[in-house]
Amino acid sequence: MIVMKFGGTSVQDSAAIRRVASIVSLRLAEQPLVVVSAMGGVTDKLVHLCEAAARSELSKALETIQAIRARHIQAASEMLSEQAAATYTEELDARLAEATALSTKIAAQGKITPAQHSHMLTFGELISSQLVAAAFNALGLPAAHADARKLIVTDAKHPAAAPLSSPTRARLQEAIAPLLKQNLVPVLGGFIASSESGEVTTLGRGGSDYSAAIVGAALNAKRIEIWTDVSGILTTDPRLCPKAQRISEISFHEATELACFGAKVLHPATLLPAVEHDIPVAVLNSHKPEEEGTIIRATATHSPSHFRAIALKRNISIFNIRAPRHVGSLHFLDDLFSLLRWHHLPSEIVAISGATASVAVESSRDAGKLVSELQSLGEVEFQPDMAIVCLVGEDIRGRVGIASEVFGVVASAGINVHMIAQGSSEISVSFVVEEKDAVKSVQHLHRHIFEASTKPTPAPLAVQA
Ligand code: ADP
Ligand code: ASP
Ligand code: MG
Repeated sequence: MIVMKFGGTSVQDSAAIRRVASIVSLRLAEQPLVVVSAMGGVTDKLVHLCEAAARSELSKALETIQAIRARHIQAASEMLSEQAAATYTEELDARLAEATALSTKIAAQGKITPAQHSHMLTFGELISSQLVAAAFNALGLPAAHADARKLIVTDAKHPAAAPLSSPTRARLQEAIAPLLKQNLVPVLGGFIASSESGEVTTLGRGGSDYSAAIVGAALNAKRIEIWTDVSGILTTDPRLCPKAQRISEISFHEATELACFGAKVLHPATLLPAVEHDIPVAVLNSHKPEEEGTIIRATATHSPSHFRAIALKRNISIFNIRAPRHVGSLHFLDDLFSLLRWHHLPSEIVAISGATASVAVESSRDAGKLVSELQSLGEVEFQPDMAIVCLVGEDIRGRVGIASEVFGVVASAGINVHMIAQGSSEISVSFVVEEKDAVKSVQHLHRHIFEASTKPTPAPLAVQA
């Protein structure tokens, strides 16, 4: 069997869903299971709905529910028979009645709990997956909807729960094998799950990719396909550089590094289940299914340049802590990381030198509180509005001159670098710049490394002693 995941823009309206049906129908011989996101933009709308409800603006919240309903009904009416549309509308209204009841409760409280927030966000995938399953049947593709909340089991952490592999595997195998045996295409909502005690959870924003990988690993899929709105993984985000080029093959390791440093095309956890089970992952364009896309494998062929791609992660802050003594002391590091853990702030980049430790983390609303707590360790300098630029490539390992090449280009653009890290795996170089300089850094580096006329001559390999 194979797993095919379609993101928000791939199921954004009836034309997109028809395209999905025709792509899936070409794969029937491989027993596809389909995972879908919410219709494009719906999860963001649900986030705004939560904010409105928490401010007790109930009528605004209910208006959003009506707008979401209208969009799904419109798509259903364009694909389904009258009878099938009526059945779908009944299911839709049952779900949206739950969303309405939840909004009413939140508005009465005047605040929202993390569990309620997750619960609200699950409605997008629930109603899109039911619509896609109904559409497949209407379009001549026998399909069965399966409720991912009952199949993917996680811990109870919000907003990004972690999957529990053995109960998930057992439930998926029990529910999905009979559907595949009957030649039905199972259709599941991505992103959504529930805890062992039945509390609804999500896998975190962008988590439908992760659902596809979890399902693929549990069912021993031959391949996992991530269908999106670009023709694979590109040398950088095409929204930053229109000349970004398709990468035909990339390693698990490189793709994970890119995803962790902001390449939205894949959720950062997606490749873990695939790596563990050695399942190849393909990234493909649902708007141009004839294009080849990118294949992600354990080992990939060498890249034409020694770099494979550049990622950009915005919304970063730096904390510089100047301690009275050498910061390498175990107590100092223990205290520093305990404070970050307490604030749920995983460190993106850490640099320790003499009496100073610098940590780059995702910006958070309680930065002020963290600063005052960090002052117990030393003098603290806080730098908000930063971004991380990360260059990835297995072929940079052991190559002389990588740092001078990268920082030479950045310096020639007049950009100041605030922190530097060369991944311990030696397959990435990341650095922190002010957010206002971030796009310019990526564009300069992309032009220098990937745009043909200025392609660098690869530096010689380091001679190992
Ligand atoms: P989906 O809704 O299908 O999950 P996403 O919006 O989450 O799609 O991810 C696709 C987007 O990721 C692209 O439109 C692109 O702007 C962005 N992106 C960021 N970095 C890259 C990259 N290196 N290659 C391709 N796309 C990228
Ligand atoms: N719909 C969710 C989101 O927008 C999950 C996903 O699409 O991957 O984050
Ligand atoms: Mg995505």
